[in-house]
Amino acid sequence: MPKPIADLIESFERLPGIGPKSSQRLTFYLLHFPQEELEKFAKSLIGLKTGTKLCSICKNVTENDICSVCDDPARDKKTIAVVASALDAFALEKTGFKGVYHVLHGIIDPLNNVGPEELFIKELVSRVKSLISESGEEDGGVEVILSTNTSMEGESTAMYISKIIRDGGIGEEKAKITRIARGLPVGGDIEYADDITLSRALDGRSKFA
Ligand SMILES: [Zn+2]
Repeated sequence: MPKPIADLIESFERLPGIGPKSSQRLTFYLLHFPQEELEKFAKSLIGLKTGTKLCSICKNVTENDICSVCDDPARDKKTIAVVASALDAFALEKTGFKGVYHVLHGIIDPLNNVGPEELFIKELVSRVKSLISESGEEDGGVEVILSTNTSMEGESTAMYISKIIRDGGIGEEKAKITRIARGLPVGGDIEYADDITLSRALDGRSKFA
């Protein structure tokens, strides 16, 4: 196999969910692309990291020092949704959420060697602290919405963050800590839901009438 082809196959294989067969298929598919298209593709690959940075406030991926959400005066800066990834922030954004985000860039996962130090948790605590001191009053209306997945790792990450915030001297009177409601998915069938899902759906019930 010519080296340029073998090299590209090897690069594709490093992507998640792409095995040897798929990477061969993709490589030979690209071989039929016009050179101009390939150069455009290569350029966007190179620009992926050189053209982006992490927002200095929320750690979301952005082109500027401060992302468009943090920079928007219409957003409620005191309502922070803590999410595992930029994609999760993007999903919440589509719901019309009017607060701001804090992107952790992962969740605590000891089996895969991801500890709290690898995530932007310290930054979240100092962000909450400065929000509280800026507002100058005890009940400054700060809310941290823990919006990690309901997987075991997502749950323990949420638990860890709430503990670290409280241990950092930020009491209930200074900042509310909430968890996104868990329960039945849309179209979910009560009859077939497992016990944990159902009991969470009951716990997370909200006022209806
Ligand atoms: Zn931001």
